Amino acid sequence: MIKNQDFLKKENQILVLKLIIDKGPISRAEIAKKTKMSPTSASRIVAVLVQHELIREIEAKTDTVGRKATYFVPNESAVISAGIEINKEVVRIGFLNFVGELIAIKSYHFVPEDPSVTAEFVKCKLFEMMKHKNIHRARLAGICVGLPGLIDHKKGNVKLSAQFNWKDIPFLELLRSKIDLPLYIDNELKLQALAEYNRGGNSKQENMVVISFGSGVGSALISKGEIYRGEDNFAGEIGHTIVDPLGAYCPCGNFGCLQTYIAEQFLLDEASKTKKLNSIDDLISVAKEGEKWASNILDKATTYAALTVNNVICLNNPDVVVLTGSLVVNHPEIREEVLRKCKDQIWSAAAETFRLDTTEMGSEGVVVGAALSVQRKYLKEINLDHEEFSV
Ligand SMILES: [Zn+2]
Repeated sequence: MIKNQDFLKKENQILVLKLIIDKGPISRAEIAKKTKMSPTSASRIVAVLVQHELIREIEAKTDTVGRKATYFVPNESAVISAGIEINKEVVRIGFLNFVGELIAIKSYHFVPEDPSVTAEFVKCKLFEMMKHKNIHRARLAGICVGLPGLIDHKKGNVKLSAQFNWKDIPFLELLRSKIDLPLYIDNELKLQALAEYNRGGNSKQENMVVISFGSGVGSALISKGEIYRGEDNFAGEIGHTIVDPLGAYCPCGNFGCLQTYIAEQFLLDEASKTKKLNSIDDLISVAKEGEKWASNILDKATTYAALTVNNVICLNNPDVVVLTGSLVVNHPEIREEVLRKCKDQIWSAAAETFRLDTTEMGSEGVVVGAALSVQRKYLKEINLDHEEFSV
């Protein structure tokens, strides 16, 4: 019986708090109405949330007679969540406030090679930013780190990150030995998908897929608001579906994976058979100068990218698809070509069933998604004590 009451108490606290975050300013009466609680219960929960400084009261005039009434809004600075992205040549660190606003973000040039050196770098820059931005650790709900590759988010292991050349690294344990705060790790694209889902009108979608074309190729599905992970968190690793078993070697150990036709390094490797190039920008320039071999490489990559979009649509039947990754974000020529080819390649029966977007989050997506995942965990686990609460 006691257990049951506790459970109800916790669920109700979460319900009311989420309502105030989403719909505030909101009155006691509206809270009771929307949560179908008695006015007494709603008032008691509101009092607990005010006592813990998670929400605050504001006075505002009512619409009808102009009398002042009390409304509740979230206390923006009550809970801060940190998101960190570690990628091929960059570490990004950012903080979200309680209403999901990005209050600080900073990028550092860093090449992750040794896992322990990487964890130490992350620790130093995180504490430096916290000090600089005056973010006290007591207000920090936690830190989530997003990385590319197969990430066992439950055990906290990097099973395989081809980009970093890491295999079976207990990275969460390494971070925990240096940072004494709640910590999580996850796949970067799954985190970015969470950020895309929370942006604009996307949270009304039932099934949203984010597809990334960059240093690798991957997809991430958000179904009914939750990340679809599969059994071991590698659902969506479409880059390693095999297109040709006699194709090029992929660092995952197989041959002819889809990403060997699209991902940046493979395009540069292919180009190097004719001419050594340092970047995709160089490849685009050479193609524009009329070099047929260069335009062939890009043509093949954009065709395979459009086929990927088609295949993901056939697999997941989403209502919105968001394209991201450095190839589409940093190179408008490639983005436009992929979008153009999607019109030809996508199965006609599916063509009218979804909306195709390109990300508008720039380079902030992984950091925002990582911090949002921390906030979601915080809200799921909230259980505030208050002796007067027991009814
Ligand atoms: Zn592969």
